[in-house]
Amino acid sequence: MQTEHIHTLVLGGGPAGYAAGIRLGQLKVPAIVAEMDNVGGVCLNRGCIPSKTLISAARRYWDARHGAEFGVEGGEALTANLEKIVAYKNLVVKKLTGGIAQLLKLNGTRWLKGRAELTGPHAARVTQADGTVQEITFDFLLLAPGSVPVSIPLMPVDGVRILDSWHALDLTSLPKSLLVVGGGVIGLELGGFMATLGAQVTVVEAMEQCMPGTDPDLVKVVLRALKKRGVNVLTSARVTHMENAGDRVITRVATAKGEQEFVSDLTLITVGRKPNLAGIGLEHAGLDPQARFLEVDAHLRTKVSHIYAAGDVTGAPLLAHRATKQAEIAAENIARLAAGDTAGDAAGDTAGHLAVYNGHAIPAVAYTDPEVACVGLSSAAAREAGYEVVCGRFPFAACGRAMAGGHTDGYIEVVTDAKTDVILGVQMVGAEVSELIGQGVVAVELGLTARAVGGAVFAHPTLSESFMEAAKAVHGEAIHVAPGK
Ligand SMILES: Cc1cc2nc3c(=O)[nH]c(=O)nc-3n(C[C@H](O)[C@H](O)[C@H](O)COP(=O)(O)OP(=O)(O)OC[C@H]3O[C@@H](n4cnc5c(N)ncnc54)[C@H](O)[C@@H]3O)c2cc1C
Repeated sequence: MQTEHIHTLVLGGGPAGYAAGIRLGQLKVPAIVAEMDNVGGVCLNRGCIPSKTLISAARRYWDARHGAEFGVEGGEALTANLEKIVAYKNLVVKKLTGGIAQLLKLNGTRWLKGRAELTGPHAARVTQADGTVQEITFDFLLLAPGSVPVSIPLMPVDGVRILDSWHALDLTSLPKSLLVVGGGVIGLELGGFMATLGAQVTVVEAMEQCMPGTDPDLVKVVLRALKKRGVNVLTSARVTHMENAGDRVITRVATAKGEQEFVSDLTLITVGRKPNLAGIGLEHAGLDPQARFLEVDAHLRTKVSHIYAAGDVTGAPLLAHRATKQAEIAAENIARLAAGDTAGDAAGDTAGHLAVYNGHAIPAVAYTDPEVACVGLSSAAAREAGYEVVCGRFPFAACGRAMAGGHTDGYIEVVTDAKTDVILGVQMVGAEVSELIGQGVVAVELGLTARAVGGAVFAHPTLSESFMEAAKAVHGEAIHVAPGK
């Protein structure tokens, strides 16, 4: 067995792990990223990027098919070739993961391809696919092993007819009927994708509302659109039985109206993900593998002072951009300590030498059609937090660019603190709000006021103008809506 010493070992090469590897390289901290799969993690290989590539293809198909209103005719004859869509998706994934591997290399951080397991607080064993085992000792460790799908014995995922999100990204033929269990973001995104291509989709959600935790007004707009595409959504509905019956899946669901049976070609299980703490040897490093997630302080340090953690393994929200931000901060702190700045070590960072993660303005986006995007506090959350709240809302139906593009569903809402006019949150539902939310992020992150945003000049005609108008609406000064709306 070979042994090697490195300053920092990064366990996991997803948006947390690879970003840490790149940042440590930039900061000249010798580091190895141990990743057993392709670098890029769930996000690049079987999450964000693959799902958004499929969704982009489905939108092209939908828009082309429904172009008659714009005078673009003949779209009804179009077909979607899922095999080719998936091949395109694979190409995008390959390019991006290859790019990340290259970036690690160019920054002087080595990717060691293998499964890592801690053998002590300062040691790990990395087993490569060919069985070669390498022992690594390290001064610092950054844990970034991500998350895994929650599995429920009642819903036995087999990858054939009962699928998880990963399987769903590689389907090369469209099922006639699909039952989605779990009406969270992933379920609605993938269910919506299949419905857009023509599958008959039913979504079953155990909670009272789909996308639990999201402002119900936003969700309503998405559900309306799903309904138009023939998607049947059941809430407060619990699966009581599921079986792969060979050529179909039989699922029984308890609803307020009694038990219903669904027969579908395929069933997709999207009931959530959980931090990945198993099989990493955490117990050998003084950490609890039975914990729900790895607890970290504001510097991203676990209770073991030389061990940091970032990304999904640190608990909700499970989002790629949050993972990357945490990883950058953890890497910077490790670099500061490596450079001999020990002021923040052990006793806490009383001197303020270490970088802090505050999770203040982390956006969340659902790539449904229309999209949902939020940052900061919703009006309900702001009230609960004790603020006196004033909101400004601007509908896309009143936005010239939205009308030009034929996407008038939805709105932007700016949530402010009545006392200071500071923007506490921005909520959006509509076409391309995944892009517009960046403006909300800047406003919330920098503590801008509604007057400041409303006073800025946005280009016309753009969807962005709706953000400016929503900020103006906080003071009843939006130009393009009727007074009192
Ligand atoms: C279908 C789907 C769609 C999604 N869409 C979005 C989206 O649009 N936007 C968004 O922000 N988020 C999205 N997410 C969530 C996003 O993918 C995760 O939040 C993100 O990948 C977390 O990054 P991470 O680095 O913490 O973990 P991961 O991406 O899970 O990476 C962890 C890595 O660690 C590796 N690993 C684990 N254990 C070991 C070990 N013992 N040894 C070596 N390597 C190991 C794994 O192979 C993996 O590559 C989506 C998720 C799914 C499933």
